[in-house]
Amino acid sequence: MGFHTSHDWRRIKLNKIIDTDLFICLCCNRTRYEWMQFHHIEYPEDIKDTTSEQLVILCFECHKLIHCLKQMRAVDSVNVNDPIVLDKMRGTIIHLGLPIYELTDKRINKAKENKEKIVNRLQLELSRARKSKKVLD
Ligand SMILES: [Zn+2]
Ligand SMILES: [Zn+2]
Repeated sequence: MGFHTSHDWRRIKLNKIIDTDLFICLCCNRTRYEWMQFHHIEYPEDIKDTTSEQLVILCFECHKLIHCLKQMRAVDSVNVNDPIVLDKMRGTIIHLGLPIYELTDKRINKAKENKEKIVNRLQLELSRARKSKKVLD
């Protein structure tokens, strides 16, 4: 089983969401939770030890973008918490004619709703996984 389908990864994602105020793309403020991905700004020695601080939430498009920019050497790192890196991403999005969404009250409420939904979903998945493990043991 690959890491990205493991329970460790589910638990790490759950912790990250709980530690995050808004479940929203850090770069473009998109809120659709099906589109959100978890991006490592730095890796621990063992990926299973990933902490919330080592992850950021990005939509799949911004996630693709940051790795492209790094590959093209347009940015020095994939640390989108670095204002210079984030600026470069947003600049590229605007240059491409794509939207950066305004953080309106409506959007903030949506992001809070999404956070609840995804936390519940991940908790359920984790408890199911634990139960099925017990049966196997
Ligand atoms: Zn985005
Ligand atoms: Zn990434």
